[in-house]
Amino acid sequence: MYVAETFVSLQGEGMLVGTPSHFIRTSGCNLRCRWCDTPYTSWLPEGERRNVPALVAEAVSSGLGHVVVTGGEPLLQREIGELTRRLRAADLHVTVETAGTLASDFECDLLSVSPKTSNSDPQGERRAAHRRIRGDREPLRALLARCGEHQVKFVISDGDDIPEVLALLDEIGPVSPDRVLLMPEGRSAREVAAKAPLVAALCLQHGFRYTPRLHLDLFGGGRGV
Ligand code: SF4
Repeated sequence: MYVAETFVSLQGEGMLVGTPSHFIRTSGCNLRCRWCDTPYTSWLPEGERRNVPALVAEAVSSGLGHVVVTGGEPLLQREIGELTRRLRAADLHVTVETAGTLASDFECDLLSVSPKTSNSDPQGERRAAHRRIRGDREPLRALLARCGEHQVKFVISDGDDIPEVLALLDEIGPVSPDRVLLMPEGRSAREVAAKAPLVAALCLQHGFRYTPRLHLDLFGGGRGV
């Protein structure tokens, strides 16, 4: 499969925030978010071909109990089913992070789905395709129906995003509010901090969870964190 990087870090977002984890970041994405924080997996994908047994062996040798398969869009990878099944067979807790636009066959212990809203739309020639792909709810419904343990994360740019988030949840629901996480948009700790009070207030108002972007606070972002 096409892999941009593997690394060990603390999970930066979501219900397992702070958990030491081995990350497998695949390269290639069917979306083009304007604020993508890993453009080397989407706008200008980089990486190398890695085989599944080697990736599993590397994850096991990390000595950590948690593996996060992320991207890019990992569900684009033909070997995603084989990879996730082998990781789980090795007694590893597997989180799969996806935008939820594909309903590929795979296994996980936690489905971490981050549906994209209009605040992600890019300018230019990729805009129409991005909007069409992110607007298809069928893969998202299928994933949520299939994967028991799940979280649904939204990137929030400002308060105007909330009506769209609520409408999307209605379309794919029911999703328990304590499985819905809001996180501030930002590619730096400073940008995230500027939006944090607004996002915290929205979480209190709607009963959603707030998620930090811990990797930005601790490591400043960039590759390998
Ligand atoms: S779905 Fe994720 S990897 Fe793909 S463009 Fe959007 S933020 Fe980047």
